[in-house]
Amino acid sequence: MYFISTRGGKERVKGAKAIVQGLASNGGLFVPESFPQVTKDEFDKMLSMSYAERAAFILHKYLEEYDYAELLSACEAAYSRFEGDPAPLVKIDDGVYILELFHGPTCAFKDMALTLLPYLLKKGCELCGIKDKILILVATSGDTGKAALEGFKDADGIKIMVFYPNDGVSKMQKLQMCTQEGSNVNVVAVKGNFDDCQTGVKNIFNSAECAKALKERGYLLSSANSINFGRLAPQIVYYFSSYLDMVSAGQIEAGTEIDFCVPTGNFGNILAAYYAKLMGLPVRMLHCASNMNNVLTDFLAKGEYDARRDFYKTTSPSMDILISSNLERLLFEISGRNGGLVSERMAALKKDKVYKITPEEQAAINKTFDGGWANEDEVVETVYDVFCDTGYTMDTHTGCAMKVAVDWFEKNKKDTTNMVVVSTANPYKFPQDVLYAVTGNDVRDSFKGIKRLHAATAMKVPKSLQGLKDKPVIFTGVTTPDKMFGEVLVFVEK
Ligand SMILES: *Cc1c(COP(=O)(O)O)cnc(C)c1O
Repeated sequence: MYFISTRGGKERVKGAKAIVQGLASNGGLFVPESFPQVTKDEFDKMLSMSYAERAAFILHKYLEEYDYAELLSACEAAYSRFEGDPAPLVKIDDGVYILELFHGPTCAFKDMALTLLPYLLKKGCELCGIKDKILILVATSGDTGKAALEGFKDADGIKIMVFYPNDGVSKMQKLQMCTQEGSNVNVVAVKGNFDDCQTGVKNIFNSAECAKALKERGYLLSSANSINFGRLAPQIVYYFSSYLDMVSAGQIEAGTEIDFCVPTGNFGNILAAYYAKLMGLPVRMLHCASNMNNVLTDFLAKGEYDARRDFYKTTSPSMDILISSNLERLLFEISGRNGGLVSERMAALKKDKVYKITPEEQAAINKTFDGGWANEDEVVETVYDVFCDTGYTMDTHTGCAMKVAVDWFEKNKKDTTNMVVVSTANPYKFPQDVLYAVTGNDVRDSFKGIKRLHAATAMKVPKSLQGLKDKPVIFTGVTTPDKMFGEVLVFVEK
């Protein structure tokens, strides 16, 4: 299997290279040359597999040059770091399920991929014969940073540096990152929002000068952001796995189409669902859920991507994004894999912050994708309503998705298609906001929030979050977007 760039050109690389390199040389994203299919026989075989086995099976279709047995044991090691089933499906109502992706070490769905990425990357370097040390740069809206730090801490021959928006992440997320242990890690706050962080990191990636300066110091840049195919591929797995679980449990018959509703920021999670569909998973619709930063809702409704708008800080900070990088991969598919067209649009986005797609493309997207969003009040109401009606507690990001799912059923009362709402974070990661939604109580301190939320819901508190209270803060640095690369150089020279 080879990978090509969303922006055209002749570059054509194996998965290992795509993962190590992160971005294509012309600034595009790597996409598989074609989508491997899962046959009926393979599907039946996967029914009795464990999550790790399903992961190895799906991944190997893209990463054939990786040794299968080794890949499988890497998947087993990664998913053994989760508490119990890595991706359990909870039925909360007739036809409504929640796919919980927050049982990993950092309590957010990013763990689904970032527990495995260090192996994919290290093995990738080996397969490509790369001898340089690797520097991972991450821009985070909160959850990727911590998950990447946990995944890569103390990894041989790798350094990892995380940039997060100074006032754009929750207290808990900030504490998780700034208390990170490990000999090879660094965490720096950036004055600005997530888009500023992401643009800063992308600029470093696209700069030949930066690459040269790092090369002279023995380092090769790579990324753990969801633009890396190594992040995307493991996310395809849980869409298959949840479907297989529904079939195994007799909730649906094999072949029945279902819907997923996904809380979306950078468009990585929902794109993985689309890739699963392209591989043959019976998916009807994908509901793209946003918060007040609803640029994607408007894009899906109007066929125009317009980032010229106010940026809001919300209670679902991991979705506070105006430039959704992975949408580029959808544009590539929808345009008939027209790299030239994708390039033009990405150039327009960079220059004018806006681009349009054709009515035909929009219609093709709307065959599968529907969009919606929740304002801050609606998130609170939705989390509250679901808690009261079913006893289920969800976090604020999942609350956005649930609101969009509820709206869908309001508009389509006769729809009997099963809806799987993807849950991306443990409620204790946003304890004050969830406590407020569930009980109306407003507390100022995160740990008090955890305590009260536990009293109200009796839900188990993850040890990794509880333990943060007593951990020393190691990282306090703050920089500006123009000084990010300076910070990088100081770190690699340490
Ligand atoms: C990252 C994240 C999202 C958004 O996922 P994308 O792949 O960026 O669309 C949603 N919710 C939570 C809790 C996250 O950490």
